[in-house]
Amino acid sequence: MLRFSGRGVTDAGLVRQNNEDAAFVGPYVALVADGVGGAAAGEVASATVAYVVAATVLSRSDAAPEQVLRLAVETARAHLVAGVRQDVARQGMATTLSAVVCDGRRVVMGHVGDSRVYHLRGGRLRQVSRDHTWVQQLLDEGRINREAAAQHPWRNVVVRSLEGSDVMPVDLDLLELDVEPGDRLLLCSDGLSDLVPDGRIAHVLGVGDPDSAAAALTQAALSAGGRDNVTCVVLDLVDGPAVVGDGQLLGSVFDPRNIVDPAGVHLV
Ligand code: CA
Repeated sequence: MLRFSGRGVTDAGLVRQNNEDAAFVGPYVALVADGVGGAAAGEVASATVAYVVAATVLSRSDAAPEQVLRLAVETARAHLVAGVRQDVARQGMATTLSAVVCDGRRVVMGHVGDSRVYHLRGGRLRQVSRDHTWVQQLLDEGRINREAAAQHPWRNVVVRSLEGSDVMPVDLDLLELDVEPGDRLLLCSDGLSDLVPDGRIAHVLGVGDPDSAAAALTQAALSAGGRDNVTCVVLDLVDGPAVVGDGQLLGSVFDPRNIVDPAGVHLV
C-alpha cells in the first residue's frame, strides 16, 4: 500500500505579523493553502479550506481521489461563501490550494493558485503544478522568459483561486502524479518558491528526513528575506501496511476560531 510519510513547517516570516498560510499533513492527504484578504480574512480562507478539504478526504476514503478532491473543494468553497455571508468584512477573501490525495495505489493532485507541488526523484526536481498567475500566462505565450518571470513585479498576481463567491465554478487542476516508493514531494507556499530558486530547493529538499528538510527549506526562505509567510510540507512516498493516524495541522488552521462552520462537514 502506497502512502505518505511526511512533516510540515510553517513560519510567519520576518515581515508579516500574521500567518495566512495553512497546511495539513497526513498519511493519505496533505495540502497547503495560502490565504489573502483584509481584516484577518486570509486566515479564515486558508484555515477553512484546509480543514474542510482534509476532513472531507478523510471521510471518503472509499472514493476515487479525483472525485473526492472535487467534492472537497466544492464543499470548502460553500463554507467560504457562508463565511462571507456571516461577516461582510470577509468579502474578497480567497486562498490557493495545493493538495495531494493517495488511495493506497495512486496519488492525485488538486491545485488552484500559485502554491506549488514539486516532485523529487534521484536528485531531479520537477514542478508538477502550474502556477495560475498572470506571469505564467505571459511565459506560456512566449512573451517573457523564465528569468524575466522570476523578477517580474507582478509575479504575485494570481488569476485563479478559491473565493467566497459562487458566481464562477471552481476551476481545479486535477493531475495523477507519476510516483513510486522512494520519491519525495514538496508542497509549498510562494513564501518559499518566490525567494528560493529551484536549484537550491532541489538540493535542500534531498537532504535528511522530511522533518529536517521542511525545516531547512523554511530556513532558506527566512535567510533570503522572509518577505512572506512560508510553508513547506515534505512527503516521502512509502510502501507498507496501511496506517491510521491523525494529521498535523499547521498555520491558520491550527486555531479553530479561523474555521467557518467546522461542524458543517458531514463526516460519513
Ligand atoms: Ca503567500
